Amino acid sequence: MSTGVGQAATFAGADSSSEVSELSLLRNGQAYLWDLQAHRELYGLLPDLSADEIVDRVRSAGLTGRGGAGFPAHLKIAAARARGRHAVVVANGSESEPASLKDKALMLHRPFLIIEGAWLAAKAVSASKIYFYIHDYRHVHASLQRALSQLRQQDVSIEIAIAPNGYVSGESSAAVNFLNNQIALPTFSRPIDTGVNGAPTVVFNVETLAQMASIARIGSAAFRSLGTPNSPGSRLLTLSGGVFSPGTVVELLHPSPTMEVLEAAGGATAEPLAYLIGGYGGRFVPPFELLGAEENGSLGCGLVGVVPEGACGLNEAQRLFGFLASQSAKQCGPCQFGLPALQAKLPAALGTRPSRRAERSVIRLIREIAGRGGCSHPDAATAMLNSAIATFSEEVHLHRNRKCSAKGPQPVFKV
Ligand code: SF4
Repeated sequence: MSTGVGQAATFAGADSSSEVSELSLLRNGQAYLWDLQAHRELYGLLPDLSADEIVDRVRSAGLTGRGGAGFPAHLKIAAARARGRHAVVVANGSESEPASLKDKALMLHRPFLIIEGAWLAAKAVSASKIYFYIHDYRHVHASLQRALSQLRQQDVSIEIAIAPNGYVSGESSAAVNFLNNQIALPTFSRPIDTGVNGAPTVVFNVETLAQMASIARIGSAAFRSLGTPNSPGSRLLTLSGGVFSPGTVVELLHPSPTMEVLEAAGGATAEPLAYLIGGYGGRFVPPFELLGAEENGSLGCGLVGVVPEGACGLNEAQRLFGFLASQSAKQCGPCQFGLPALQAKLPAALGTRPSRRAERSVIRLIREIAGRGGCSHPDAATAMLNSAIATFSEEVHLHRNRKCSAKGPQPVFKV
């Protein structure tokens, strides 16, 4: 799958044991559930739970956010309830990570699950308004609209907001800023404090909401039977980079040896040197660390990208960093000026004729930028760079000897 829109995603959980397929989010691998009756035949009716029952189930299930930060979902709900005011729910499907497609696949294939999850969240926080915040993906938009026309709830209204493209426009405060001011840039206040129209606002990733609908049906114990104690439940991954079908979306039911996961995308194109996990603003890890990341639930937005033999991880990291630097919202100095300054130093520090002086400048700039942005964007960019330098330490030595592992000009990760 190259775009994730208008094409069938691969749902790897589909062929697993009957117990697993009974519980899985993308159950039976059945594609395009655009008909309410088919959705109900597959999943059954959504139980009529009270607000307290929803909170209890989400808490005991240990559901964490699937958008990247992995924040416990019940704490977000509790914070909104503590405000004692009617809240607003934002279903965030903007998925701004360029190589990530799992949210688009979910909105395309399982729109009813997400809508039901948004209802549950709304009931838990006494919200009468839900916004779907997405980018302008025609098929996704049509899928949601078709589902919304069939599935209505009298006491909750749902609106779809189309956000402009941009890496940081998917950030939760940017979503609220857009809904308030039509400006999809991060702000310096938390949605839970100052949200849409000043109301406490909970922003949930769309996969998180679909998991809520799953928990409501199967209960927290069954949900916890998937995943690990540290990271309960199934999880959608986008397989990217050096695999034969980049952009394949799989549902990981339990941590699984890497090669088995990659099989869903036709396998790796060459022996993996490393993985990029959690998105372009995520981190590179050596192959032996991937299973641990699955077990800890530290896969961020669920992107798993293969850096195959014959590629240069340092070149990849520089390109990704350049992309991230270009996506600054230009509101904070370390982000607006620090990231481009650092980018400018990278060829001299990490290229095949590196200078020690440039290497020292890079280290200094990383230290100066980290922790000083208004949001986590510059931290994510510098952390990705640091992880590349650590993971590809052999490549650093090669470059110092004027050699490089890259076998061709083709980049592994597209920006
Ligand atoms: S750190 Fe960058 S992206 Fe984040 S708020 Fe500041 S300027 Fe915007």
